[in-house]
Amino acid sequence: MIVIEPHIHLLCRTTDDYDRLFASGVVAVTEPAFWAGFDRGTPAAFEVYYQQITSYERARAARHGIDYYCWMCLNPKEAEDLGLAREVMKLLPKYLACENCLGVGEIGLNRNTKNELEILERHIQLAEDLNQLILVHTPHLEDKLKGTKLIVDAIKNHPKINPERVLIDHMEEHTLRIPRDAGMWAGLTLYPDTKCTPRRAADIVERFGADKLWINSAADWGPSDPFAVFAFMAEMLHRGHDRALVQRIVYDNPAGFLSKSPKFKWPAKAEQAMASGRRT
Ligand SMILES: [Zn+2]
Repeated sequence: MIVIEPHIHLLCRTTDDYDRLFASGVVAVTEPAFWAGFDRGTPAAFEVYYQQITSYERARAARHGIDYYCWMCLNPKEAEDLGLAREVMKLLPKYLACENCLGVGEIGLNRNTKNELEILERHIQLAEDLNQLILVHTPHLEDKLKGTKLIVDAIKNHPKINPERVLIDHMEEHTLRIPRDAGMWAGLTLYPDTKCTPRRAADIVERFGADKLWINSAADWGPSDPFAVFAFMAEMLHRGHDRALVQRIVYDNPAGFLSKSPKFKWPAKAEQAMASGRRT
């Protein structure tokens, strides 16, 4: 099958991962801007990272046959130093204009603090002003429900933002309805041991359906599996689900959401394969 991995931090992964993703059927990926594992202390440090995901990493992916897109923001974990955060935010319009940048993300909340909320609001305003797609990270564990509601409400306060152009990621059983009820998209993120496993994701799809939903691994430098989406696909097929349904979740849905940005190009190889009937 043909796969788009819509949330993965390939900057942190090896070339072998690229080769194996390509061989497994991944035709395109998107990499949200995120925390580097340590707090960056200057705007220049952020700028190097933004240059990496808008140019170098895109070229590396292309050498391995994969279309590579990114998202641009200041991660909520780094919103506590408001002075620095405001300086970094001035850099964002320049990088949002890059050819492979699809929108503002992954914005959101980490510990739901006042400073995080201010920087979240500035990102939402930026997305509205520049007519950008929005990709949202939600807090983990006990803060998830509260954080998801806060974020969705903050976006709804901007009536000019079309909810169809917003995706709230890292959803679970108790939060998935919140973005969907607001007309937004939702994402499920698969983790190797804890939180949403491939089996649990299959349960969620069976319970809530596949509309406006994408699946990702969010693989990065920490414990994560860049092939988690394939484990989900295997779980769905083992349960007897139709291949067309699985293909819809791992290709048609992410392509449908991403193509709301005029910069997203439907992957040529995938479209040719589908046209020639090799889709299933
Ligand atoms: Zn991420």
